[in-house]
Amino acid sequence: MFLYEYHCKECDHVFNLLNSVERRHEAQCPKCDRQATKKISEGRFKLPGHDTGFPTAADKWARQHRKANKRELQELGIPTD
Ligand SMILES: [Zn+2]
Repeated sequence: MFLYEYHCKECDHVFNLLNSVERRHEAQCPKCDRQATKKISEGRFKLPGHDTGFPTAADKWARQHRKANKRELQELGIPTD
C-alpha cells in the first residue's frame, strides 16, 4: 500500500489516501463522493505498518520531501515545525 495524494475537482478538496499500486488512479472524495484525481507521483512512500510506525514513517518522508504541503502534513498529524 502506498500513500497517494488526490484532488477533487468538484469541491476542491485535497486528501491523502492509502491505495494499492493497481488502484492508484481510483479514489473517491470523502467530502462529496465524486471521483478524485491523483495529484503528484512523488507524494508516496511505503508504510511499514498501519498501526505501528505510521507517524514515524510519515515524518521521515516529510523531512525528505520538503516540497510537501504544510497544511496536508498537519492533516496527517505530523508536526511541521
Ligand atoms: Zn469532493
